[in-house]
Amino acid sequence: MILPILTEPNPLLHKQAKPIADARIISAEMKKLATDLIETMRAKDGVGLAATQAGRLEQICVVAVDLEKQEKREIVLINPRWEKIGLRKETDDEGCLSVPEIFGKVKRYKKIRVFAKNLLGNNLEFVAEDLLARIIQHEVDHLNGILFTEKAKGLHKIDKSAGK
Ligand code: ZN
Repeated sequence: MILPILTEPNPLLHKQAKPIADARIISAEMKKLATDLIETMRAKDGVGLAATQAGRLEQICVVAVDLEKQEKREIVLINPRWEKIGLRKETDDEGCLSVPEIFGKVKRYKKIRVFAKNLLGNNLEFVAEDLLARIIQHEVDHLNGILFTEKAKGLHKIDKSAGK
């Protein structure tokens, strides 16, 4: 099911999402939410989506990891957190389904270690770099009620009708 996506201005987008308890992680309801988030992200041509953006203040997000490949693949991150690996940051353009048509440059860590749980309740730990690291930092920000526009420089509007 494709979920409606909240867009700015909306106070829910600025709220902290709640951690998900172990018993709930493995529930059918959580699996349904993850499936819906993935379907919605794909339908809207996004590369990541946090539950907050669907008005659900729970710590779950989905990220596309196929980025330049044909086969579609996603990871579901529950109660995610990350720590930096090295000090290197990179600045690149970002946009967000919750802030339509607005883009800006955001500085993010280039390489991070990610900790989360999957839908089976198992611990995940992996290293993410470059675009994947950027997307995860953006999605974890959503779960903390932070939008990229609060960190971006050179925010500008892109007119969709002009083509991309
Ligand atoms: Zn976003």
